[in-house]
Amino acid sequence: MPEVINLSTEIKKQLPVELVSFMQLAGEVAQSKRQNLYLVGGVVRDLLLGRTSFDLDLVLEGDATDLARELIGVKPGKIIIHSRFGTAKLQWDKWSVDLATARSETYVRPGVLPVVKPGSIRDDVFRRDFTINAMAVALNPGRYGQLLALYGGRDDLEHKLIRVLHEKSFIDDATRIWRALRYEQRLNFRLEPATLRLLRRDIPYLDTISGDRIRHELELIFKEEYPEKALRRAEELGVLAKLLPALKVDDWLIERFGRARKLSLPDVPSFGLYLALLAYRLSGEEIEQLISCLRLPKATAQTLRDAVGIKAEIESLSVSGLAPSSICSLLHGYSSPALVANSLAADSPVAGEHIQLFLNVLRYVKPSLTGEDLKRMGVAQGPRIKEILNLLREARLDGKVSSKKDEEEMVFGVGGLGG
Ligand code: ATP
Ligand code: MG
Repeated sequence: MPEVINLSTEIKKQLPVELVSFMQLAGEVAQSKRQNLYLVGGVVRDLLLGRTSFDLDLVLEGDATDLARELIGVKPGKIIIHSRFGTAKLQWDKWSVDLATARSETYVRPGVLPVVKPGSIRDDVFRRDFTINAMAVALNPGRYGQLLALYGGRDDLEHKLIRVLHEKSFIDDATRIWRALRYEQRLNFRLEPATLRLLRRDIPYLDTISGDRIRHELELIFKEEYPEKALRRAEELGVLAKLLPALKVDDWLIERFGRARKLSLPDVPSFGLYLALLAYRLSGEEIEQLISCLRLPKATAQTLRDAVGIKAEIESLSVSGLAPSSICSLLHGYSSPALVANSLAADSPVAGEHIQLFLNVLRYVKPSLTGEDLKRMGVAQGPRIKEILNLLREARLDGKVSSKKDEEEMVFGVGGLGG
């Protein structure tokens, strides 16, 4: 008889009390419908590793949308149903839980989403990426907490191995190649030797995956604590080159990623910033290739293009003692993430400081006088107003005026009144 492992102690210790009582309740309701409910996926792996994770994925041998409706009746919250997929998301203030109908998947063509039909927990776990993610914990009363590690996930966890469930896994879905590197590097595991061989063999299948799906995997990598680890491994195995041959992960990049992380700026999305650094040494043409092969959203594409634009000004920005108004005219109009990327990436420390100064101070400088004030002072409506406001801003930046009175004198001085 194989040893029965029960994780109820780990569940109680590692998950929030509210979620634990919800799972028990869900197990009881499932039982009353004579259906089996399981906790699955990453959270089971993390329970065994002693890591916290609050993403609850539940799988029911039965219609999960029915169970979801019943549960939200008992514990009121928001519910989103996807009848076509037999899945539901339950949401409360602090937590959310995904509920899915156990299913089996058949891959008709590499890289194309599979054909899905209801199945058993065994099927559901078999369709998953790696053995360590292919474990389930029973939630029905009587079996509550029992681990179902049908494909050797527990041994692999112990031996720190990333292993696919079957030899066509990467062909069916080559996004798993990126996923394998992400888990390997996050957990400090190793690719099990046969899996590593399959991964190398199946790298060409990355071409079967849509840009949207590859981008999604990269987004997940950039959410890791140290994204450069998975990227470096991807370079070593030739996975990164498949994205774009010119990309490289070296000490230069690793140092910049480290500094980028320390900044954590609210208006700078980490995906855009990391990607701009990764792409910083590419040519304009290569950047356009990256934008199209990852189908980057407009804002992210703009970040990459802006970063190139700023890079072209680095030489001018490297002059010490540059007037603040000149810094502004070189940098105005560019997006924050592109500016931040350049301040980190520029090889000239002076240029870096000038960009910082612009980001933190100069870009917020405004004259005291407004367009309305100018009109009151007799400036004729029209483009002249904007011109004068610009002159005033530049004078403020360079310390030539420092009060409203100075500004008024300047307006009379430049002949703003008669034009
Ligand atoms: P993380 O800690 O990064 O969230 P996770 O294991 O929870 O890891 P998710 O991306 O949230 O990962 O996916 C949940 C589960 O769905 C995984 O554990 C895995 O079993 C399964 N899964 C996700 N993507 C794939 C895929 N491409 N192929 C097979 N199974 C997948
Ligand atoms: Mg998850």
